[in-house]
Amino acid sequence: MTPKPEEIEAVRRSIENLDRELVRLLAKRLEAARAIGSLKALSGRSGIRDPERERVLLETWCDEAEAAGLPRWLAGRILTEILEHSRRAQEDVFLGKAQDGEPILRLKVGYQGVPASYSDLCIDKLFAAREGLVLEKQGFETFSHVARALERQDIDCALLPVENSTCGGIGEVGEILVKGAFSVLAEEILPVEHVLAALPGTRRRDVKAVRSHRAALEQCRSLLERMEAARVEVWHDTADAARSIADEKAVGVAAICSMEAAQRHGLEVLARDVADNPENYTRFLLLAREPGESDPRLPSKTSLVLALRDEKGALAQCLEVFARHEINLTRIESRPKPQAPWEYIFLIDFEGHRDDASVRDALADLPTYTSQLRVLGSYPMRRPSDDHLQSLPVPRVNLDDEGIPKVARPLIEDVPLTALRPDGKKSGVRVGDVLIGGGGFTLIAGPCAVESREQVFEAAAMVRERGARILRGGAFKPRTSPYSFQGLGYQGVDFLVEAGRAHGMPVVTEVLSPEDVTRVAKKADMLQVGARNMQNFELLKELGRVGRPVLLKRGMSATLDELLHAAEYIMAGGNHQVVLCERGIRTFEPATRATLDVSAIPVLKERTHLPVVVDPSHAAGRRSLVIPLALAAVAAGADGLIVECHPHPDAALCDKDQALSPDDLERLVGRIQAMIPQRQAGVVGR
Ligand code: PEP
Ligand code: MN
Repeated sequence: MTPKPEEIEAVRRSIENLDRELVRLLAKRLEAARAIGSLKALSGRSGIRDPERERVLLETWCDEAEAAGLPRWLAGRILTEILEHSRRAQEDVFLGKAQDGEPILRLKVGYQGVPASYSDLCIDKLFAAREGLVLEKQGFETFSHVARALERQDIDCALLPVENSTCGGIGEVGEILVKGAFSVLAEEILPVEHVLAALPGTRRRDVKAVRSHRAALEQCRSLLERMEAARVEVWHDTADAARSIADEKAVGVAAICSMEAAQRHGLEVLARDVADNPENYTRFLLLAREPGESDPRLPSKTSLVLALRDEKGALAQCLEVFARHEINLTRIESRPKPQAPWEYIFLIDFEGHRDDASVRDALADLPTYTSQLRVLGSYPMRRPSDDHLQSLPVPRVNLDDEGIPKVARPLIEDVPLTALRPDGKKSGVRVGDVLIGGGGFTLIAGPCAVESREQVFEAAAMVRERGARILRGGAFKPRTSPYSFQGLGYQGVDFLVEAGRAHGMPVVTEVLSPEDVTRVAKKADMLQVGARNMQNFELLKELGRVGRPVLLKRGMSATLDELLHAAEYIMAGGNHQVVLCERGIRTFEPATRATLDVSAIPVLKERTHLPVVVDPSHAAGRRSLVIPLALAAVAAGADGLIVECHPHPDAALCDKDQALSPDDLERLVGRIQAMIPQRQAGVVGR
């Protein structure tokens, strides 16, 4: 008997009514969840989650569903989604967000892919519970396009996948993270359910080709083995594979994509959950240009990037720091260090917030073993099946009462990274194979400026023979007069490096502008910040991002406090290899070019763990004063000297009055050795 059309219509109406009722009940349930959030906030409870209560709810719900004739797994899945959403909504209330009158926040989020790709779905998941948010999503072809858009401020945030539970880390994204230019505001974990979808009416046995992203195809290997007649077509994106099949009306081609992508493009789902491993999750990170603020009361995770000092056991020591402070590492990945073959940078995630006492202590201890350390951010922790609370990560615009941006709160004190450590332990900074600090004494010597290939080779031979371990030479010269010799630029850097290599010395050279930092860092072993640039903060920030040691000279009118803050800029950027240099300050006394502030040496030793070297040449301005000032610095406890010398001082193109001749240098080294024989075997000496 065929049913009457009115009968079918009547059943359809009743289904629609039931759906409406379901929606109304869901909204009501969410309202109640929010009310609980407010009550918990009022009672000052430190977390929102009540896992035991959730477990009981889920059990009861599934039992009742089963008794009513529904499959248990279906009921469980539905309630899990509802509970997760409620938790997030509760949390916004708990954190005092999403209240009436709050201004609407507009956020432009970039991702790799096209609408309905997993990244796109994950953005929806991450921001689902956030009210008052106007979300604009923009898809890009590659991960690096997304990163570039973020850099150029075309988007506010980027959501990128960092790892997948089946395939592991996503290298290209790891590379973006180690560059350290972005902060992490949030993580999100997306359960990935691949479906097999094709044009409506397609039967599975008619499928001649399967089209998808390489990673998705790999995750569905046994499905593909079973469909041996079907060829595999690698596509750049799962959702776009679905789109292309719909657009091309490609008969006999199936896509492996998300359920949402199949629906969006009108494809029929031939099979669900087609991945080999049903537990397939992708973890995403939300990146921004500026650090975010996350509530330390929520269970949190922190991500950081670190490079190890070139010392035995440095990695073990770092791990020991985490263990000592009882910090649970959740992920450690090594990535090749740019510009340094066979050296590695580690991406580390751990449980805890950077404001937690244990994390702060660990962050204070780590720099003993690291040459670079940068915290990418702390954010609410998510778990695959047991989702935790989520707060909306917002790029920080941290304004004070007058609307002026506030500086980030330092971790421990004013200059937490530069300050002397509680145990008083001093840092050594390695330049090539030479250590500055760490109890030794290091002589850096060379001409003021690189003038020619011949000159710098001659200078290199001269200083090496007399005991210098690092070769100096300016290629970019900061001259008082625009008509003076400005240096040979990049060609000068090449000559210097060549001469240094030929005579077995690493080299140090000055960089004047942020744009030159990366390029000079590719060649030189150490970068110098000149006195005139000590507070060129853009330059300091750029130096914070490179993995090269920095010789930071004190500005001629800078206090020691300002010098330490300048060092802090470099360290805060993640580069912990900083050597301070006292080079004379401007006083009322015109008898010397500058006045060597000998007291700076013991004062800095009291205040910082960083090595301190002295430049007597620029302080003296006259050859005859260089040796006495150098010896004063040695006596006051300097970790080394940087002196200007020239094979033919009278012919020097720059600072010739203060350049030591080969004989002068010989005399200086003899005097130093007489003063500190016990400190130095082999550091100053032939
Ligand atoms: C130099 O070392 O070449 C130099 C220019 O020094 P300062 O920046 O200390 O003047
Ligand atoms: Mn000079």
